[in-house]
Amino acid sequence: MSQTLPTTVVNVGYRSTNYWVVSAGRNRLLVDIGWPGTFGTMKANLKRIGVPLAELRYALATHYHIDHAGLAEEFKREGVPLLVLNCQVPAIPLMKTWTKPGDNYVEITPHGNVTISFEESRQLLGEIGISGEIVPTPGHSDHCVSLLLDDGSVFTGDLPPENAAFDNPVALATWAFLQGRGVKRVYPAHGPIRRIGETVALEHRA
Ligand SMILES: [Zn+2]
Repeated sequence: MSQTLPTTVVNVGYRSTNYWVVSAGRNRLLVDIGWPGTFGTMKANLKRIGVPLAELRYALATHYHIDHAGLAEEFKREGVPLLVLNCQVPAIPLMKTWTKPGDNYVEITPHGNVTISFEESRQLLGEIGISGEIVPTPGHSDHCVSLLLDDGSVFTGDLPPENAAFDNPVALATWAFLQGRGVKRVYPAHGPIRRIGETVALEHRA
């Protein structure tokens, strides 16, 4: 296992959705993978921050909804493996049922996917210098996962914010779990970075 480095985080998002480039030196992980049919925008945003596709070691979708995994197959064709958690596998073929022909969605094939268990995630991330793990965080969908870094950052996808989850006991249990893991900063898929427990405006809930 290589030595872990301090991680840095940059947002390459668009259309109200955050796509996070998590870097340990030049080893990078993309968390959430764009809207269908927008690979040109994504590539332009990566170029603007100086990240060649070759430095993306994996792409990880927090869950398989179209604003989070829409470009996974295009990334694979460019040499970026798709990192899949076991529990996400059944959700992948359902992606196409939520897209229209005009969306230009390229269907995700099993070919080239790197499928792991949660227990295997720490070692895999360690191999690219990132200190952390991938954890199950249900509350938006059953197959939702989060990247949890040892520095207290968590990338939660569409997990409803705490103050929007009063009627969602699954999400509240997930937040309690994350509190117990010492999370400090939340990087959601929609809206600004916040401290855990911080009240957020709720006009946008995708
Ligand atoms: Zn979303």
